[in-house]
Amino acid sequence: MASTVRIEGISKAYTKDVPVLLPLDVEVKKGELFFLLGPSGCGKSTLLRIIAGLVTPDEGKIFFDGEDVTFLPPEKRRAAMVFQNYALWPHMTVFENVAFGPKSAGLPASKVKEKVKEALALVRMSDFAARRPPSLSGGQQQRVALARAIAVEPRVLLLDEPLSNLDAKLRDEMRLEIKRVCKEHSLTAIYVTHDRREALGMGDRIALLEGGKIRQLDTPVNLYKRPCTRFAASFLGGVNFLRGRVKGKENGLAVIETDVGTLHSANPLPVTEISSPGEKSHTVLIRPEHITVAESGDALNSFKAKYESGTFLGERSEMLFRTENGRTVEVNEDSSELREKGREYLLSVLPANVVVLED
Ligand code: ADP
Ligand code: MG
Repeated sequence: MASTVRIEGISKAYTKDVPVLLPLDVEVKKGELFFLLGPSGCGKSTLLRIIAGLVTPDEGKIFFDGEDVTFLPPEKRRAAMVFQNYALWPHMTVFENVAFGPKSAGLPASKVKEKVKEALALVRMSDFAARRPPSLSGGQQQRVALARAIAVEPRVLLLDEPLSNLDAKLRDEMRLEIKRVCKEHSLTAIYVTHDRREALGMGDRIALLEGGKIRQLDTPVNLYKRPCTRFAASFLGGVNFLRGRVKGKENGLAVIETDVGTLHSANPLPVTEISSPGEKSHTVLIRPEHITVAESGDALNSFKAKYESGTFLGERSEMLFRTENGRTVEVNEDSSELREKGREYLLSVLPANVVVLED
């Protein structure tokens, strides 16, 4: 049922000379929960709408399972869309909302009933079949919208910021629900969001978009741990950027002179960088939660810094330190213990958590 989706050289400009999507290629696997992540206005919804057939691309082709659907109207593509605002029919019952798709497809009444029952059970809304959407909570309405999309047995499920209208706690719950439904039903799903936590927590793979281009396509862990650009690093979470020069290799680790002292990195570097040590400058990335604070010690990759300020945020504390040469360093610790202002500490980071980027 579920299809692969291939996007080949798709580009779009709504107005001449203002490109929204630059030619892009990507292949989504069968059964994959694939994310389009990026800041507002980067072209995510445009790409999703092109896949759905709601927007016509300027160039390029879309294939479902190798079948060219570029010029098929939306209803012939069997791609179901779930929107941020649910888009349910308020005057119809939950049952009728979900039945609409299978009915329009010409299924006999008994089969329609079966499909609706199945879809409502999957989103745990069986008890609400006779209710109308306005009498349901936001989370329940979103479940019905999901059931309606699934009931047509789509070749691809398209979700555009489906959780944006829900409060934080419900959003966490619905994230797990959507992921469960997609996996239990082996759906191919393409999910648009600007929320990195959604993409990291749910996605099999993430395409990070900026300015109508895919900047990195990777698994959540890789995108977070080994971002390829400064943009990717900061879009996915907090990060300290240091200046550095790679000096060479030692015990399999890259040795880098940085503005907080010598650091070792376990992340692979291009060979050319090592063969001309010290000539090119690099950006060194360290996530705030990868820095450990100690009173003293002789850990590898450690440097001295004075505690400046901090905020206790419940599950973690965000702190600011300053090195001898005046660099500020952000540190997150899962501790309620704020440090002593003006006192010197020893900060350290594991080589595996030092990432070097080409400038
Ligand atoms: P995102 O979903 O990533 O926020 P969109 O794909 O909605 O981005 O929009 C990308 C750009 O295209 C934005 O600058 C937006 O203003 C513009 N845009 C979107 N839809 C239209 C449209 N129908 N007509 C003209 N410009 C549009
Ligand atoms: Mg959008």
